[in-house]
Amino acid sequence: MQADATPSQANAASAALPDGPIALKKPNDAFYTTWSLLESVTDPEIPVVNLREMGILRAVRQTATGLEVVITPTYSGCPAMSQMQDDVVNALSRAGVAARVLTQIAPAWSTDWMTPEGREKLRAYGIAPPHPSGCGSPVANVIQFSSKRAAGGAELTVACPQCGSHNTTETSHFGSTACKALYRCLDCLEPFDYFKPY
Ligand SMILES: [Zn+2]
Repeated sequence: MQADATPSQANAASAALPDGPIALKKPNDAFYTTWSLLESVTDPEIPVVNLREMGILRAVRQTATGLEVVITPTYSGCPAMSQMQDDVVNALSRAGVAARVLTQIAPAWSTDWMTPEGREKLRAYGIAPPHPSGCGSPVANVIQFSSKRAAGGAELTVACPQCGSHNTTETSHFGSTACKALYRCLDCLEPFDYFKPY
């Protein structure tokens, strides 16, 4: 493959991407300025968490045709994806940085890519963060996502983000969005969203 090929869904490129959470960049890291600008771009559905903390932002890199930002949707068909692309381009262009956004769907996004600070922000926002998915297969992830995984994972308890109690129960497998389940705390009686692992 040639380096100047159109940067589509190239497997060669995906192999170079990190497989896991991406820590906050330091001044001596490559493309630090761009990474820093992108810290202000938040998940349209969870405005307290930015794209890096969600694991959506995967890479900033120089290609033969310019700067490229790689993002991976949380799940295929995510309706917020085009807004995220626009937000990335706008945040950079306001600072005079021209970049193209590449949406890469393989390897598939996993809740395991969320950073520890992202999980903590979710909890503070009132959403119970996901348990480790324990599974790296994109195919299996899709199946788990659409099946009643909670029934088989009964040993997992979800801590209430309000009071920390593990005395909680799932009231609906689909909450405010498809990627969340609706729970209710049996101690403080507050309902809350649980971000389902996949
Ligand atoms: Zn509670």
